[in-house]
Amino acid sequence: MKQPILPGSTIGVLGSGQLGRMFAIAARRMGYHVHTYSPDTDTPTGQVADLEITASYEDLDRVREFARGVSAVTFEFENVPAATASAASEHAEVRPSGNVLHLTQNRLREKTFLANSGFPVTRFSPVNSLDDLEAALLRQKPPGILKTAGFGYDGKGQFRLADASQAAAAWAAIGPEPAVLESFVDYQMELSVVAARTADGDFVHYGVVRNDHKDGLLDFTVAPAILDPRIAREAIGIRRNVLKKLDVVGVLCVEFFLTRADHLYINELAPRPHNSGHFSFDACVTSQFEQQLRAVCGLPLGSTEQMRPAAMANLLGELWEGGEPNWRSACAMPNVKLHLYGKLEPRPGRKMGHLTALGESAESVVRAARAALLRR
Ligand code: AMP
Repeated sequence: MKQPILPGSTIGVLGSGQLGRMFAIAARRMGYHVHTYSPDTDTPTGQVADLEITASYEDLDRVREFARGVSAVTFEFENVPAATASAASEHAEVRPSGNVLHLTQNRLREKTFLANSGFPVTRFSPVNSLDDLEAALLRQKPPGILKTAGFGYDGKGQFRLADASQAAAAWAAIGPEPAVLESFVDYQMELSVVAARTADGDFVHYGVVRNDHKDGLLDFTVAPAILDPRIAREAIGIRRNVLKKLDVVGVLCVEFFLTRADHLYINELAPRPHNSGHFSFDACVTSQFEQQLRAVCGLPLGSTEQMRPAAMANLLGELWEGGEPNWRSACAMPNVKLHLYGKLEPRPGRKMGHLTALGESAESVVRAARAALLRR
């Protein structure tokens, strides 16, 4: 076993959004220093890190210099170019590894890996031209979703096809990028499992949570999901095998569809803390962000015990349309926790923060708290 990286050391984060911010808060609380690297300035992570480096991911000399200044490098979003992770790994341990990053930043690679490893995924075909798409639509009956293979997230770069007559429109919207046609899953619920794994192969997980999406973006998470225990066991077993197969050191989220016939399909993987695990910050003994730190540093993992039921609601930019939200009204609810990410410009669809409610009726409380923000 390698020596652990102890408090007082510096951890580098590639990326600078809210996931890095919450990681930095957890790391600083435990006496670590945090450096963040991204092309942006005054970022959610940079505002709480010890050092914010603003440089392009393609500037590999700057990446190497960044890596020389830290004991380990992790990332907070998976669209960092693989060459950046590889340059960083010349000078510091990169966790999870660049291979995990490379696989999960491309839907086609990820789906092919999952299917070849025997994990359940919906039917899919690679699409590189309109001809490919038309042929795929003959094999896979519509409805389907055409998605860009690379650099897509939060429902961006997607076109839903009700029938084959929409092929040209879909390709015009998504092409000429390499893409994937996925068969539409008629699901009753979306679920996810956030888990962590150490280099020694120890695992922990945060149970199965239910996720409600709106316009392709996560809207709500309810933790734990109310489910048949057999399905919960199956989902937890699948995530364990995925982490093991990928040899993940760090945190990984597996997102699932649960079909109306009670079958689980993996929708996608995220090799980092995930929006659906934000509840753990307030509701669990050890948050997903502290768990990422522990795994990256080679420390033992903490307990994931959830102290109270929880629900999380995202706060998107549109909430600011009529002026500053009414923070006082949400803070007047004693079991609601407010998280804001320090983003300066509230654009529609931009994740600006979230609310977590704790307690038996967490879902209705968090809905009421979010509605109360609009009372001006
Ligand atoms: P993604 O960015 O791939 O996670 O997609 C965003 C959201 O679109 C998902 O959380 C689902 O709500 C929906 N979606 C994506 N792919 C499918 C699919 N194959 N079948 C049904 N809904 C989907």
